[in-house]
Amino acid sequence: MRVLRASIITVVAVLSLYVCSSLFLETADAETANAISEINWTYQGETGPDFWADLDTDFAACKSGQSQSPIDLTGAKAVDLLNPEFHYEPVPLNLLNNGHTVQVPYAPGSYLMLEGQRYDLLQFHFHSPSEHAIDGQSEPVELHLVHRNEVGELAVVAVLLHADEVTGAAYQLMSQNLPYKAGDKVRTDATINAEDLLPQQTTTYRYSGSLTTPPCSESVTWLVMSQPVSLPNEQLTQYEKLLNHNNRPLQSLHKRSIQLDASS
Ligand SMILES: [Zn+2]
Repeated sequence: MRVLRASIITVVAVLSLYVCSSLFLETADAETANAISEINWTYQGETGPDFWADLDTDFAACKSGQSQSPIDLTGAKAVDLLNPEFHYEPVPLNLLNNGHTVQVPYAPGSYLMLEGQRYDLLQFHFHSPSEHAIDGQSEPVELHLVHRNEVGELAVVAVLLHADEVTGAAYQLMSQNLPYKAGDKVRTDATINAEDLLPQQTTTYRYSGSLTTPPCSESVTWLVMSQPVSLPNEQLTQYEKLLNHNNRPLQSLHKRSIQLDASS
């Protein structure tokens, strides 16, 4: 059973379908979902981030990895990079509280073009407070849009959300339909386009990192928008209350470098 469970987890880690929120019951088969849920990792206490690597041998990278996420984005090198191209379509807005985050699944057909490669958008979800920091500054909430290319490599686009009065209808729609209890799902008649969740200026910090949840697998390309998106304070408070500190602490940069679009 242990071997079976470990192999299932490894497969999931390799496929990395669920970058920062390991459970999504609607798309995971029941056996896989049950296997993963046996490992009770959390954000606080004895099963919190400091102890993730001790919970299962498949989580070893959480402690030994040299390319872990999140990080403080500071000392970035300006490089002339092609901006990512977003080809997002509207999808039905359904939200799931999986006990670690609030997640919105994304139907096939939407993708990101990055350095000539296509990465399909799988889902997006939230952390509060933000996981990444920019020059030491964290924000109340961070959005992660999770993409995967045809060989299973991940690219995650992160958007930091900060308090101001400007907002878009897409965020407002979600804040009106948040599933507050673990296991809750909210189905709406509305559609959402992930493009409406991005800042106007889509220049990014880029670096090689990892999943920010167990198993902390590496080889994730991170693109963190250099411009945050503004939401009214009352909307941010709703996310903060619901997510209740589901942020992994900042990790060491080690030998990595951070790039920043020179055009930003
Ligand atoms: Zn995440």
